[in-house]
Amino acid sequence: MNAQLPGQIGIEFYFNQHLKIRPKPNWIGKLPKNYYWCPYCGEIKKFKVFKGYKRCELCHISMKDYYVKKFNKLELI
Ligand SMILES: [Zn+2]
Repeated sequence: MNAQLPGQIGIEFYFNQHLKIRPKPNWIGKLPKNYYWCPYCGEIKKFKVFKGYKRCELCHISMKDYYVKKFNKLELI
């Protein structure tokens, strides 16, 4: 059964909370050029080239990060 009981918290939530990563909400569609979901800021952020990689302008996480790639459906290398 897949029904969720009221107040039930999925395992994903604990997992993400532990890593302090916020998944990209489903309502976010295609983003403008150079804007990506930053799972560490929990917001849509502009990514700019800094020290050779595109990075979040706020927390400086790079596009090479696994979760940045995962939530932005970038190719996982
Ligand atoms: Zn960020």
